[in-house]
Parts: sequence; C-alpha cells; structure tokens
Amino acid sequence: MRPMSRSRAALTLAGWGRVPVAGHEISTTDLTADSRGAALLRGLGRSYGDSSLPAHADDRIVNTCRAARVIAWDATTGRLRAEAGLALADMNALTMPAGWFTPVTPGTKFVTLGGMVASDVHGKNHHRDGCFGGHVTALRMRVASGDVLACGPAIEPELFWATVGGMGLTGHILEVEVQLHRIPSPWIWTETSRVDDLDGYLAALAEGALRWPMTVGWIDCLNRGRRLGRGILMAGRWATADEAPARFPGNPWPLRLPFDLPNWALNDLTASAFNSLYYWRHLQRHRAHIQHPDAFFYPLDRILDWNRAYGPRGFTQYQCVLPRAAGPAAVHEFMELLTRLGGASPLCVIKDCGPEGQGVLSFPLEGTSVAVDMAITADTQRIVDELNAMVIAAGGRIYLSKDLFTRAADFRRMEPRLDRFLAIRERWDPTHAIRSAQSVRLFGY
Ligand SMILES: Cc1cc2nc3c(=O)[nH]c(=O)nc-3n(C[C@H](O)[C@H](O)[C@H](O)COP(=O)(O)OP(=O)(O)OC[C@H]3O[C@@H](n4cnc5c(N)ncnc54)[C@H](O)[C@@H]3O)c2cc1C
Repeated sequence: MRPMSRSRAALTLAGWGRVPVAGHEISTTDLTADSRGAALLRGLGRSYGDSSLPAHADDRIVNTCRAARVIAWDATTGRLRAEAGLALADMNALTMPAGWFTPVTPGTKFVTLGGMVASDVHGKNHHRDGCFGGHVTALRMRVASGDVLACGPAIEPELFWATVGGMGLTGHILEVEVQLHRIPSPWIWTETSRVDDLDGYLAALAEGALRWPMTVGWIDCLNRGRRLGRGILMAGRWATADEAPARFPGNPWPLRLPFDLPNWALNDLTASAFNSLYYWRHLQRHRAHIQHPDAFFYPLDRILDWNRAYGPRGFTQYQCVLPRAAGPAAVHEFMELLTRLGGASPLCVIKDCGPEGQGVLSFPLEGTSVAVDMAITADTQRIVDELNAMVIAAGGRIYLSKDLFTRAADFRRMEPRLDRFLAIRERWDPTHAIRSAQSVRLFGY
C-alpha cells in the first residue's frame, strides 16, 4: 500500500499578493498519480497575481511542494533532475557545497522548479544568461489527455518552448532536468553605487551590464523632478576562491512578520521615509565588498511573510519591460506616469534584460524591466490600465507571473506571440481542461 500521498484542505487560495479566491488544493507526494485530471498545478505560490489560482472554486488544484525528490544529481557535470516541487532553497543547499548554482535565480529562493519553468524566471544575469528555461535540458510532463511524456529542446520542442513561460497551461510539469553553473566560490563580490537621478541610473545600468554578469538596482520612484529615479545600483559576480572567506556561508536566521500591518501603515509618508533611509544608508557613493549570496540574491527572503506589510487589502506588482529601441525616454515617461498616477511604492526595481528567449510567452525582451509593488486600492485597475497603455505604445509588455489586473484586450495588444501560444495550447488541450483564474481572465478559458 502506498503511504498517505495526499492531504486535502478546504480553503481560500491566494498568490503572493494575498488576494484570496475560493478554492482548495490537494498536496501530494505522488505527483504523477495525483496530477491526473487537475485543472492546474501550483508550487510555493510566489507568483503575485492569479496565475496559480483556480478559475472556479471546484477546479482541482494540485500543490507540488511535497513532491520534491531529487532523482539524479551529478556533482561532476552539474546536471540535476528532480520532481517539480523541489524548492530552489533546497536545490541551492544541495548543490552549492559541491560548487554548482542554479543558472538563473529569481529574487526569492522560495520557488519550485516547476514554477521556475512555468514562469521562465529571469534574474540579475538575464543580459548574460537569459531565462531559466534556456538551461532546462528535459521535462517530464502530463498533458491534458492524461499521457505522460518527455519533452525538451530536441524532443517535442514546440510543447517544450510553449511550456517554458507558459504559466502551467500546456500541461503539468512532473520533473525538471537542468544544467547548473559552476561557481568558483559560494560568495559574491559586489559593488554598490549610489546614483543621483534616473539618467545617471540608466547610464550606470547599461555600463554595468557590459562589465558585470549580474546587475540590479532599486530606485526611488516617489520623488518627482530632479531626484526622480535616484537609486542604488548593485553589480556582482561570484567571488574567486582567493577573494572568498574560507568558511561556507551560514544560514541567516530568518525574521518573520507575525501579523498583518494595518492598511494605512504603508502610506506616502512612511514610503518616502523608507526610501530616504534606504538611499542614505549607502553613504559611500561606491562600495565594493564580499557579500553573503542570500543577501545579494534574496534580500526580501530575510523577512518571512513580508507580504503582510501591505495589510489585509493585499497588493500587486506591476512589472513591465520597455524595449531598448524606445530608449531612456520611455523609462522616463513610465516613471513620471507612475508617480503622477500615485502608483509608486518603496519597492521599485529596475533591471536590464538581454535578448528575447525561445519561450513562446516568456516575459523578457531586450530593454529595461521595471517592477513596482502597489497596495491594492480602488484606483489600482485604473493605474494598471494607464500604465499598460503607455507600455503598449512603447512596444513593451508585462510579466504574467506578477499580473492580476491586465485586461484581455491590452494583453493581446502587447503580445504578438499570443496566437502562436494559443494554437499550441489548443493542440495539446482541445477541451481546455487545464486553466487558471489568469487564463480565463486573459484568454477566456
Ligand atoms: C520576492 C519575490 C521575488 C521575485 N523575483 C523574481 C525575479 O527576480 N524574476 C522572476 O522571473 N520572477 C520573480 N518572482 C516571481 C516568481 O519567481 C515566479 O512567480 C515563480 O513562478 C514562483 O514559483 P512558485 O513555485 O511559487 O510557483 P507558483 O506561484 O505556485 O505558480 C506560478 C505559475 O507556475 C505554474 N506552475 C507551478 N508549478 C507547476 C508545475 N509543476 N507544472 C505546471 N505549472 C506549474 C502555476 O500554475 C502558475 O501559473 C519573484 C517573486 C517573489 C515573491
């Protein structure tokens, strides 16, 4: 007899933005058996919006987090194969001591391999290494017919590239095989620069991308005029064995936000105070030092449940990419519109993206990505609509993993690849058995 492979709880489900929907999920250690007939698989729920949420309260949703076995790990080649529910945190803990690291990491390690493929996550090294899907060598999937099959860049490539960044809509990812990157040490050599304004920031970002494998930065988007876009640019690379401390980086003690802050706690005044403090904390204009990898890659993970800071109303993240061809003027226009609409908050991250990858619906394209958290208010829909209009005019697009408010017509306008994606989805799921709240909102099914 199989050990208890499932647990089932009736609840409301939510993404990281904490906007609840009615539904329940089954958590399983036997993903292959229990994914049969599921409307959707979800991992650690770190997508902000409704991509991992049920379209209907009685849709069968399977949580993969307990299906997290490592199936094969070769510390000489850096090739790893694991069940889709393996958390990146656990993969890092296994592979870093052997000198290997995920080729691409998002800004949190509390994501699953399945979620990383479905979102085709990008990281601070996108300009050098592209998205996660570009390093995936094979997937084992259950498609809507119930069949379990293998796919990869050379086997069923059309299904594979639609699954990479396809938000779980082409089938259930059961296993992921990925080629990791060799690292010379587990520490990061980082350089931070304080920059006075948006033009300075964008110039430093472009220049940094030429010299550094990893760049990212925070900007103050609450200030208007001259100081709009002042920020802190962080560039990094893996420290060499000579530079790195001899010890392995320890696990920083996690803090936890134990309750919801009241809705009013994050307001213009507290957000401005936070921004000024953060900016002036970097007293030295340039600083170079060795950094703990978690502090470099995952600063927000230091406080578990930090999403409660936005209060019970919940929040969303607006993330778009503005193409390089639209130039710095488009970034200026976006930031000015954002502050004028009152959408700005303390968390505003600007990154450089390299060329578009092969994932049919993958988010990045060559240009500048801007991500900003927003508490949900009566104005949020209007703000997102206006930002989307500007992004569409500039030839950009939004990131589905963060989205909760984009309208179907706007998504279609910003996504010339949509018909191709929907045709592939139709081929593999003609009865539309696999769906999410997001797919129904944006595609109608
Ligand atoms: C603090 C923070 C920082 C982040 N930084 C970044 C960043 O820098 N770059 C970036 O790209 N993203 C970033 N993200 C977003 C995050 O990486 C993605 O949303 C990721 O997909 C979350 O993984 P998950 O396991 O939590 O998936 P979930 O949120 O549970 O699901 C996300 C999507 O994947 C699908 N899915 C999950 N598992 C499977 C499976 N086994 N088979 C089929 N479909 C599946 C779901 O249906 C859903 O559509 C960040 C999120 C947070 C909270």
